[in-house]
Amino acid sequence: MERHETLAVTAGRPAHQPDASLNPAIQLTSTFVAGGPLAYGRYGNEAWSALEEAIGALEGGRTLAFSSGMAAISAVFNMLPIGAVVTASNQGYSGTMSLLKQSHESGRLEVRFVDAANSKEVLEAIPGSQLLWLESPTNPNLEVADLPGLIKAAKSAGIGVAVDNTFATPLNQNPLAMGADIVMNSVTKFLSGHSDVLMGSLSTKDEALFTRLEGQRKLGGAIPGPVEAWLALRGIRTFAVRVQRGSESALEIAKRLSAHPKVSKVRYPGLPADPQHERAKSFMRGFGAVLSFEIRGGAAEAERVCESSKLITHATSLGGVETLWERRRRWPAESAVVSESLIRISVGLEDVEDLWNDIEQALNSI
Ligand code: PLP
Repeated sequence: MERHETLAVTAGRPAHQPDASLNPAIQLTSTFVAGGPLAYGRYGNEAWSALEEAIGALEGGRTLAFSSGMAAISAVFNMLPIGAVVTASNQGYSGTMSLLKQSHESGRLEVRFVDAANSKEVLEAIPGSQLLWLESPTNPNLEVADLPGLIKAAKSAGIGVAVDNTFATPLNQNPLAMGADIVMNSVTKFLSGHSDVLMGSLSTKDEALFTRLEGQRKLGGAIPGPVEAWLALRGIRTFAVRVQRGSESALEIAKRLSAHPKVSKVRYPGLPADPQHERAKSFMRGFGAVLSFEIRGGAAEAERVCESSKLITHATSLGGVETLWERRRRWPAESAVVSESLIRISVGLEDVEDLWNDIEQALNSI
């Protein structure tokens, strides 16, 4: 099997034959002439298939594209019976946390929230669960769970495991190869990489599970448009080099922030001083392009820093070519375990010295 850097460029191309297009077609049609496998626009089209083949090659499993990361996550939880027990990290992407809290409060699911970086706590909570939902590294605290150990323990207890791989990306870790049943990506972020589409994906090696998830997509109807799927696939062609470059700059910025007098804490799994660096190094191939830091001061000072940038855009989201930052607790849905002064940075492709100059001048505003 070729390496990820190659697959990002080659997977999902039409077959090589004279005059074949290098890229899939964008089929602007809601239906297809009867008799073929596609049949209807909510069931498939050429651009989805090409995108799914590419993400599938990167993650090592059959893949389904959804209209957003949250649509993909919802399809997983919707597949569970009413009252099913889910063990999930107590901190992670705030949308997932809010969905799980709502599902728990309504009785749709019984959710046991745990500190996923604490394996003992997870192992004590999982008996009787139908699903262990993991996100690692977490958004925005960059906590790393022992994915190989937790997946192995859950699988040997007969519990399904799903992993949100958005921060690490398939370049840096493949949870399916560790034994997870489902891997989810917010394609909106690093895979598409240009802050111009919203999309999500689910990948699995299990054919029966694939069929159930496909059923969720068909009937839930949370499908991407063919143009968006084409754009996401175009983004994937440069995905590996973008993530590598962003990760190099993220490490450099993390090191410099760690030595800055106005910064009290930095979290980046690639930083040798990070409390989870050794764990991350044991199974991750790289550490991604997102980091977070806390400043000496409170919410107002952190907001002032974010508002003072000239090159970095003060905006939510991550994974694009441009560097973005924000104070995560500006969102009421963000977990109380996240510090009021925490700023998350998604490091893009700008020159790292230019980025650092901007960060330094923004920190000088407080
Ligand atoms: N998972 C993680 C880790 C995220 O950061 C996000 C979005 O920020 C999502 C899932 C949801 O993805 P989307 O915004 O594509 O619905």
